Amino acid sequence: MTSFDLAGARVLVTGAAGFVGSHLCERLIAAGAAVVGVDNLSTGRMDNLRGLADHGSFDFEHRDVTMPFRFPGRLDAILHLASPAAPGDYLAQPLATLRAGSVGTLNMAETARVKDATLLLASTSEVYGDPLEHPQTESYLGNVNPIGPRSVYDEAKRFAEAVTAQAGRDGVKTAIARIFNTYGPRMSERDSRVVPTFIRQACLGLPLTVAGDGSQTRSLCFVDDTVDGLVRLLTSGHTAPVNIGGTTEVTVLDLAHLIRRACGSSSPVIFVDLPQDDPHRRRPDITTARTILGWTPKTGLPEGLARTIACQRDRTPAQAVAL
Ligand code: NAD
Repeated sequence: MTSFDLAGARVLVTGAAGFVGSHLCERLIAAGAAVVGVDNLSTGRMDNLRGLADHGSFDFEHRDVTMPFRFPGRLDAILHLASPAAPGDYLAQPLATLRAGSVGTLNMAETARVKDATLLLASTSEVYGDPLEHPQTESYLGNVNPIGPRSVYDEAKRFAEAVTAQAGRDGVKTAIARIFNTYGPRMSERDSRVVPTFIRQACLGLPLTVAGDGSQTRSLCFVDDTVDGLVRLLTSGHTAPVNIGGTTEVTVLDLAHLIRRACGSSSPVIFVDLPQDDPHRRRPDITTARTILGWTPKTGLPEGLARTIACQRDRTPAQAVAL
């Protein structure tokens, strides 16, 4: 294992203008790194990087990681987050999603090799598909439908893990974070994931649309905790995949009621069709993160939801109504 110090490091973050990427850039800079953020702004937005716009340790490049990629100067680490991530986004951009996970990751692995930089891949719990093992340990190989609509994301990330693992065998320093459902401020107002969808519906007085009977579970992690896990993983030198996620399992129906109450909304809860291949249960086993990284999520759901709701409420009514 070779760990490295962030102070003075030059770090490339792909997907920097996205939800997780923008928080990550701030955290890396606070730890003393100089950050170059790259994003094609397909789902991210510059507004997420507003706090870094004039920061001397931050540069932004509007680029697509799937295009031929040459990067001038020294580079100590690449954190590869660029990919549509919300189901509404990857279903709307299926081929771009496959390209981000495949060509984009090949480009980042090659850049890491040339620069002798550490490559950290932002993978996902979706590599476990609709899991037959619960909770999911990193050794579980998954239950993914390779031809279902979600496969453009799930299989792209599985391919990305394969690329990263091969780069590791070829001598590149690598890390793989399997991120579970993360929520928090700056999720796009159009984000189709469950937390921003319920908040949006509750705030607009619309029915909260629960898929199926709502008994399916999610384990949510607040973005500050996820970012903390990513930074710890990057600096640890640990190369095998690590689950980063919350361990408190909540049913989607309970989550709808929780968010409705937290928003002070009287919206009804209604039931809609379950999307194909929707995972029934999700909860990470975080023993590896706990023991190797000393990481556990710290932010409880009520606090995390309150901070997320406050941010989403800040949006102008015009933006909200246009959803
Ligand atoms: P996001 O959509 O907010 O951010 C993704 C960013 O990548 C966006 O800014 C987008 O414009 C950019 N991007 C997409 N394709 C690109 C390309 N070809 N070139 C350059 N930039 C590109 O999503 P997020 O929730 O912030 O997710 C970030 C990463 O974390 C993704 O890789 C996602 O798979 C992973 N992840 C997130 C979660 C979660 O719950 N948020 C869970 C598991 C994994």
